[in-house]
Amino acid sequence: MSDGSLFPQTPASAPASDLNAAQPAPVRAELLVWMSGLLRDEYGERPLIPRRAPMHELISTILSQRTTHADEEAAYQELCLLGDWDEIIAAPVEAVAHAIRRSNYPESKAPRIQATLSAIKAERGGYDLDFLAELPVADALKWLTNLPGVGVKTASLVLLFNFARPVFPVDTHVHRVTTRVGVIPRMGEQAAHRALLGLLPPDAPHLYELHVNLLRHGQKICHWTAPKCPACILKDRCDAHAIYGNRVPSFGK
Ligand code: SF4
Repeated sequence: MSDGSLFPQTPASAPASDLNAAQPAPVRAELLVWMSGLLRDEYGERPLIPRRAPMHELISTILSQRTTHADEEAAYQELCLLGDWDEIIAAPVEAVAHAIRRSNYPESKAPRIQATLSAIKAERGGYDLDFLAELPVADALKWLTNLPGVGVKTASLVLLFNFARPVFPVDTHVHRVTTRVGVIPRMGEQAAHRALLGLLPPDAPHLYELHVNLLRHGQKICHWTAPKCPACILKDRCDAHAIYGNRVPSFGK
């Protein structure tokens, strides 16, 4: 029977009360601090420097869903060949879908991108998102997530990466690693944004570094299937490792 913690089975070697996910918030917040330090030692400091303009970040993040970075970049570059944002709105949706064909699901992303651009133009009269730097964080998140096709992850990435606002984007890697370690109980990516942010200090450079390093750890070690636990710097305090040892099942199972 489920105890409400990370995994439904309570192993003999790790009673539910000993699992991170069953611990109170301050204990899990301390676990995040510990993880942050180890990940920084392993992957280095990551200064928060905007990598591209806000509109570029916004549209690229939509393109990046279930797509490799190389394909996302190729799709973005070809999209820009259609013209400026006004011309992309006016282009036939089939032309937009063709331009972004290196991204997965181009037929559904093309109309979403056009709808997002149209909504920004209608509300702001142009495509300058700098006003987001001045809005309270909750209002900025709300404004972005009200755009068609923009979820909390995309909105958080734009606000953190471009405007150094203290939010914490939870992508598939961040979600998987923090759930397995037991920083948060099992929950969806959407809910994980709020749960993790509640455990973290409102410090944008710290949030950025932790996001990027967790992503790196998920790509390099804590894979979706067959994670490399013997090589993992987090294994001493990882719930999944406490339960399954070096045979942690695929995430979601
Ligand atoms: S010990 Fe294994 S499951 Fe836990 S974080 Fe490391 S790689 Fe992932």
